[in-house]
Order: sequence, then structure tokens, then C-alpha cells
Amino acid sequence: MRRPGLEPGFLPREVPPTAGLPVRVSELFGPLAPDLPALAAQFLGVEEVGISASGSAALVLILQTLRRLRARRQVIVPAYTCPLVVLAVVQCGLQPVVCDVAPGSFELDPDHLAALSGPDTLAVLPTHLGGRVARLYPVLAVARAAGAFVVEDAAQAFGARVQAQAHAQALVAAPAGTQSVGLAGDAGFFSFAAGKGLSLYEGGAWLARDAALRAEIAATARQLQTPAWGFEAWRSLQLLGLALCYRPRMLPYVYGLPLRRAVRRGQLAQAVGDVFDLPIPLHPVGAWRRAVGARALRRLPAFQAALAQQAQRRLPQLARLPGVTVLGYAPADAAEGGTAGDGAYQGLWPFFMLLLPTPAQRDAALAALWPRGLGVTRLFIHALPDYAYLRPWLPVQNCPHARDLAARMLTISNSPWLDDAGFARIVAELERCLR
Ligand SMILES: *Cc1c(COP(=O)(O)O)cnc(C)c1O
Repeated sequence: MRRPGLEPGFLPREVPPTAGLPVRVSELFGPLAPDLPALAAQFLGVEEVGISASGSAALVLILQTLRRLRARRQVIVPAYTCPLVVLAVVQCGLQPVVCDVAPGSFELDPDHLAALSGPDTLAVLPTHLGGRVARLYPVLAVARAAGAFVVEDAAQAFGARVQAQAHAQALVAAPAGTQSVGLAGDAGFFSFAAGKGLSLYEGGAWLARDAALRAEIAATARQLQTPAWGFEAWRSLQLLGLALCYRPRMLPYVYGLPLRRAVRRGQLAQAVGDVFDLPIPLHPVGAWRRAVGARALRRLPAFQAALAQQAQRRLPQLARLPGVTVLGYAPADAAEGGTAGDGAYQGLWPFFMLLLPTPAQRDAALAALWPRGLGVTRLFIHALPDYAYLRPWLPVQNCPHARDLAARMLTISNSPWLDDAGFARIVAELERCLR
């Protein structure tokens, strides 16, 4: 990809931290139909998808609905996830309850979950982090026993699929074949923020298995989503900017330089975009942005297939690194064919989540790789209870496994703009840090 004749690194270029589908300038223009909700439903293979201002806005719509249906106050969230999830719960007047993740995993720890679930649990929120499909059967069993809803956080997993039978133990009736994530529980949501697969700059979507619940969420959306034209104009400009700037030659200026400046100042949560404000805007997404998303969506299946192929080539190299685990990847699965490392679970690979043996090794690797523009970074900086700005809503709490993830994890982009030479440099640097 690099132009011949130029030293690597001579022209500044930057790999984005996740493999977002780049919006093409040509997709900014054209006829409006068909609309995004219908195309998104077709893409996911479901009857109906609702579009919202963001992933967290979709979560607000879902939770406000569930709250109306069942007079309970608590929502259980994983201790290692996006802080916006906490703000969405708070915005609904509900109480976030933090459940630790299982050791070396982003999935809810079933024992801790069982201990926290009770008569006041409205919903449990398992997360399909980094496009990897969470194993939901233990969560579904605990939630059902407590009479709680299950809302799947698929913000990073738009297009991930799972064999329905994989959750069969807890499902009423499991259809044959695969289905989208978000259908094993009661509802689910996706994010269309910049860099998260499909992007409207900011946007989101929700779905629900049961038609009656879909009608309830749609009613909530009609009630709470009030048009804000000034805001939509601003978001449209931002989407235009994204289409122009989401490319390797522009990303150093809009992404890389601000990231590295914040890292130098020690503002790590700001560096990776972990700091958010209330309230979460709930306006509808305008027709132009929906149309841009609809046009880009037509390219998403081929794009995701290419990412899966690239992942299949690169994952074994990462899994071979001494003492390193790749979250959501079992090397033995690679032989099963299909998308890399899956089988019944057909997740996505927007980036790779690596656990290094020690925090010191992770920090050394980041010190070397963060400045290089190769798409190596961190996901969430802290476990949820360790964000100072969430303190008003979350008690100080021990969640050792989430803290361990925050301390030992780094991510490597699976963007197609990370070429083999760049990937080899990352692997070489990791090998050096692991010696
Ligand atoms: C990004 C993200 C969200 C929130 O989505 P927005 O569209 O940014 O509001 C929620 N959960 C997870 C795991 C995320 O990564």
C-alpha cells in the first residue's frame, strides 16, 4: 500500500484503531431510497430495526421501555465496558450495578452475576466486545431465574452472528442456522459511531426478538426522539468530515496527533475517548445521514468477509506470542473453517484484543507502539468503578478481573490499511517486549 520509493514513515500515515467501513465520497450523494432501517433489517435478517442517535441512545430507548413494563430499578453491567453504558442507565433513572468479568475474559462472571441478581434486577447487559460473540447461556439462565430482561450490548458487533442452538439451553425455541446477535436475549443494540463498523458519525440501532416488545420500544422512540435540526446539521457536517478524513493520510491529524498529545500529558481516558457527558442526545437521525449509511451498508458484507480473511492469516501469529492470549480466539477453532476462530459463533474482527502476561510488558509494548501510528492502542482505560467521573453513580468496588484486563490488554487494529509490513513490525515489537 505504501508508495514505492518512500521510506516507511516518511509521509505521515496512520492506521485507525478499529476497522471501520470507510464512507466513500460518492456515497454522500444519490437518491434517498431505500432507507437504512429496512436495509439494516435485511442485513441482519430480522423483521424490524430501529435507528437511533447513538448506541447509547438505543440503550436508553430499550431501558425506558423495560422500566415501564417491569417496576424494577437495577441494571447489571460488566465491569469492563464503555462508560456510556453507565450513563445510559443513569439517564433512565435506574441504578447501575457492576458485575466483574470472568478471569481473562470480557464476559460477565456467572457466579458474581448470580450473587448480584435479585427481585430488583430489571436487566442484565452482556457485551459482545470487539465483535466477539459472548457465550450467553449462563447469563440467560441467571437472568431468567431472577425474572430479569437480557439486553445484548452489540455496539461493536453489527453483523456478528451465532448459531441459535448455541444458546438453546435457555431459549424457548431455537431456529436452525445462524442469527444476528441481539436475538438470544430480549433486546440488543448496535453503535454506528465513527470507527464502529458502519458509521453515521454518530448513530445506533436496536432490535428485539419479540414483536410486542418491538412495538413498545418503537412507541418509546416516538415519544422520546424529538427532532433537533441544528444538531442534525452539525452531525451531518461531522459525517462529511469523517468521509473526508477517515483515510491513512488524514488520520494522523484528526486521530493520531490528538491521541499522542493526550498520552504525553497522561490523560489516558481522554486519549482513547472514554470521557462522556450527560445527557445522551435522543434525536432521530436525519434522512441524509440515513441514506449515506444505507449506501455504505451495501459494501459491509464484503468488507467484513475481507477482515475475517485478514484475521485468519494474522491471528495464529498473535496466538503464538509467548504467554499472550487473544480474547475470543481459540486457535483450535481455526481448523473448523468459516470465519477465523469461530464455529457456532461467527463474530467479527474489527481489532484484536491481546492480553500480555504482565502489566509491565503491556506498558512497555504500548510505549513503543502507541507513537507509531500502526493502530495499536488500548480499549477502555479502566474498570468502570475506576473512572473518577462515574463516581457519583458507582460505588468504589472490587472487580479484580476487570482491573486485570485494563492493566494487561492492548488492541491491534484489523483495518485493511494495516499492511503486512506494518503488522510484522507490531509482532516484532511485541516479541521484543516479551523476551
Ligand atoms: C461504543 C459503545 C457503546 C456506546 O455506543 P455509542 O454509539 O458510542 O453511544 C456501548 N457499548 C460498547 C461496548 C461500546 O463500545
